[in-house]
Amino acid sequence: MEMNSANVEAVVKQVLESMLDKNIPSPSAPAASQAIPKTAHVAMLTSLEHYDVKEFPIPEVGDGDILVKVEGCGICGTDAHEFKKDPFGLIPVALGHEGTGEIVKMGKNVKVDSAGKPLKVGDKVVTCMIFKDDPDIEMFDLNKKNVGGADVYGLLPDDDIHLNGWFSDYILIREGSSVFNVSDLDLDSRILIEPCAVLVHAVERAKTTGILRFNSRVVVQGCGPIGLICIAVLRTLGIENIVAVDGNQQRLDFAKRMGADKSVNFMEYKGIEALSAAVKDAFGGHLADFAFQCTGAPAAHSNIYKFIRNGGGLCELGFFINGGDATINPHFDLCSKEINLVGSWVYTLRDYATTFDFLKRAQAIGLPMKELITHRFPLEEINEAHRTNLAQKGLKIAIVNK
Ligand SMILES: [Zn+2]
Repeated sequence: MEMNSANVEAVVKQVLESMLDKNIPSPSAPAASQAIPKTAHVAMLTSLEHYDVKEFPIPEVGDGDILVKVEGCGICGTDAHEFKKDPFGLIPVALGHEGTGEIVKMGKNVKVDSAGKPLKVGDKVVTCMIFKDDPDIEMFDLNKKNVGGADVYGLLPDDDIHLNGWFSDYILIREGSSVFNVSDLDLDSRILIEPCAVLVHAVERAKTTGILRFNSRVVVQGCGPIGLICIAVLRTLGIENIVAVDGNQQRLDFAKRMGADKSVNFMEYKGIEALSAAVKDAFGGHLADFAFQCTGAPAAHSNIYKFIRNGGGLCELGFFINGGDATINPHFDLCSKEINLVGSWVYTLRDYATTFDFLKRAQAIGLPMKELITHRFPLEEINEAHRTNLAQKGLKIAIVNK
């Protein structure tokens, strides 16, 4: 991506302008003046591969609670697993954890968000984990605690309130939840926060190896939303020497627009020797200093070591759920090469806050983040939205309310 400084300035200006959400109500016309309906519509997964949009009464808002009118929510890989197999045994469940919306009512004890930023009716928010079992945890002491295994809205057991997921038109955020004021981000950016936090975390994990530098040669294997966002995060850190590896040419083309310098389509090479030679070629005769493995295929894990130089690093983040065993040769792949290997899973609350800045930076340098959202469906078409997601017809599929 070549841009002269005049262009950069113009792009930054344009992006900053477009990011100011024109729909934020002015203080003189708060959203609270919109009548809050008696009932909410919540998409409940009631059986495998089937949602029913149910109507539930909107409950009283407690002193520490926040009632949010939902604007949109992305469909995550986790939702796809729940939809198909219910691995968490949650059915019936109100899904949707990549959501965002506008505060329409809040309890008298709610004054600030989890980062200490003031909150008021009309503000746009997202949620992260719920500290039901750990109420003492503090915002800026959060590198310790990964959200994996914590409670989040959209993956809670059903209760008598039911307004527990973001695939809905209203959600009740209860006391003890982490909530962030993200009114300075537009709707698309807010829908992308959660998946982007996964990559902010992965890159933070990668940085602990000390190998990632400005001029590092980096392989990103897998160009679904996760790999594409990985490239974007690297670009915002000033890393430009990126080779994308995937078997889908369309995704590879997008990877280049997202900032990859070169791409390698593995469909064009027979065997791992030919493939690693192609990667080496793409770096001008060098193996990678660092690699991010972003696919859920065990064979991809086995292969990626071959792309990395002696003493290089690897961040494995593709196995969000159990994808089976992968075979490596510990001597050749790991020991004799002295590979610095880190695993990464979900994110911490601190990464979540970092992600808000990442999104602004990515837009400011002209990365096509919003194009990651390829399909938008209304809540009533949530079954169709999930089928589209399962068919892998797009990248990020989102439910967007009217
Ligand atoms: Zn997710």
